[in-house]
Amino acid sequence: MRLNWMAYFFIMLLSLIGGLSPALALGEPSLQRDGYERFFIGDRSLKRLSKPEAGLLLSGGGDWAVEAFRWFAKKAGHGHLVVLRASGATETANEFYNKIKGLASVETFVFHDRSAAYDVRIIRAINNADGLFIAGGDQARYIRFWRDTPLSQAIEDHIKANKPLGGTSAGLAIMGEYSYGAMDGGSITSDEALNNPMGPKVTIERRLYSLSSMDGIVTDSHFSERGRQGRLAAFLIKAQTLKGAPLTGLGIDEETALIVEPDGRANVTSNKDGLVWMMKQGPDANGFGVVGIGSESRFHLLSKKVNSPRFVRQYSLKHSDEKKVEFMQEKKWSLAIHGGAGVLEPTDMTPELEADYRQGLKDALAKGEAILAKGGSALDAVEATVVSLENNPLFNAGKGAVFTAEGKNELDAAIMEGTSLKAGAVAGVTRTKNPIKLARAVMEKSGRLLLAREGADAFSKENGLEQVEPDYYFTQKRFDQLQKWKKRQLALLDQSHRFGTVGAVALDQDGHLAAATSTGGLTGKVFGRIGDTPIIGAGTFADSRYCAVSATGTGEYFIRESAGRQICDRMRWHNQTIHEAAYDTIMSVGAIGGDGGLIAMDKNGDVAFALNDLGMYRGWVASWRKPETAIYGDDQLKVSGRNEKTSDELH
Ligand code: ASP
Repeated sequence: MRLNWMAYFFIMLLSLIGGLSPALALGEPSLQRDGYERFFIGDRSLKRLSKPEAGLLLSGGGDWAVEAFRWFAKKAGHGHLVVLRASGATETANEFYNKIKGLASVETFVFHDRSAAYDVRIIRAINNADGLFIAGGDQARYIRFWRDTPLSQAIEDHIKANKPLGGTSAGLAIMGEYSYGAMDGGSITSDEALNNPMGPKVTIERRLYSLSSMDGIVTDSHFSERGRQGRLAAFLIKAQTLKGAPLTGLGIDEETALIVEPDGRANVTSNKDGLVWMMKQGPDANGFGVVGIGSESRFHLLSKKVNSPRFVRQYSLKHSDEKKVEFMQEKKWSLAIHGGAGVLEPTDMTPELEADYRQGLKDALAKGEAILAKGGSALDAVEATVVSLENNPLFNAGKGAVFTAEGKNELDAAIMEGTSLKAGAVAGVTRTKNPIKLARAVMEKSGRLLLAREGADAFSKENGLEQVEPDYYFTQKRFDQLQKWKKRQLALLDQSHRFGTVGAVALDQDGHLAAATSTGGLTGKVFGRIGDTPIIGAGTFADSRYCAVSATGTGEYFIRESAGRQICDRMRWHNQTIHEAAYDTIMSVGAIGGDGGLIAMDKNGDVAFALNDLGMYRGWVASWRKPETAIYGDDQLKVSGRNEKTSDELH
């Protein structure tokens, strides 16, 4: 009785102070004072479920990325949340309390001027909050009302007390070490900002409170929705000049959030596959490297390292005419192929046949080019390129594959995507028209990496890949080779028996590398022999951070030297160029008795052709190069030497 009476008295008192009805309906201020309004929803007497933990929620605006906000409520121990805003009313509180749910209470303060930033009641509320969230609106008001006030000190104390902090849109803008303040009342467009990055409209402000995980960062929100790549570049230009040191831009898409653990590990969550765009100026003043960070990526906010980025792009400022500066993506891509190492005996190679080989290589390059030039993926490009070579009877893959000792065709193939490091491979398949397509299906649909023989054939059928009768692979030339081989029984010494394996490596406009290889293996192979082609790390390998490789030759030796992986490792651990790494690797294969060649591409699209044989059917086309093909060791498309740094013509 006594308690109820006291509660009633308390509510009456509050309503007298606020001049409002005692009903604390959401949507009406429970308290209105000079300089601010206060709203409250929930139950002050409820206990939080757990102790709050540090965490940072950076939301790109628009509808909320629900999972991220649930994470935030949990970080706040499902306790009492304080929301700060400078316009609007209970929108954020409603979302938290009624949609995200699970919080004991949400108290909102809407600031109308600077005096509120000195109000003890607000400061006390922040001190007691289990979580603090800064809503969207106009960041210029936050900056004007809060700079150098007890309020910004209270935010800093909250961070120091290891309690979670979040912000969306304008609330995100003021999280960086430098922010775009929109101090002139407008929100600048990319065009305006790029037109004069150092001008007065690009209002760059230093942070209001210190937040060490955001040191060196400038943020922006509603990123792709409002085409803000250009303006973030302008913010970086001006903020870097003010700081006198390089900064990193973080643009966050709508309905997308970055949640950051205290150790810097950060995850992207999005309702619609949105991204966090990380931007740095370089390699020159007009260039900007942009990394797309998706929910599949792993990101570390402190080191700025990204594993499995959605893309790695290069943008640059283009002065199209005197008035206009555009922020344009560099459309860089590259594709290299091989059709096996070793060359025909001079007596067998006629000019017509040579022309046919070159045409086959050119056709394959054209297939991949069509995909890459349009912005398609490296994975699609290497697949399409290899399909073209598999369908060409001149090469030892698909139609035209060599024969086993028993007079059959058993095909091997592998494909690898270098950003996700996903791979698929098949060995000893006998009925799939295009084994490389089957390798890709294994990668994407089987949950496994390497399927062999009858099992792989069955998986192929089940997945609807085009089936052929075993005699589809037959060519007279390969059959005659088998007869010759049978006479000589010199499987590993006869040069003519094996060339013709095909492979491709590619870099797409989003910075992904991929590799694919397909082969009939060695003429006269016995006992279900499998070579290096379907062995990931040996005949086929791709890692977008370092290299993509496809090899050809006496497979056993390439397996023993982990040739594909070895090239990437040489680059990674020994800082070798693609040329040095490819050369040293083919030498180490040769040193144990192997022969053949390989193609290797680095993350800039530069290509190394390495061989210890007389020649290798090969080709290269890139956004900056016309298609070219070569066969012999001393032909164009130079074979890499020991100390080579880049290909001669690399732009
Ligand atoms: N490397 C392939 C294998 O050993 C054959 C070749 O490239 O010619 O199966």
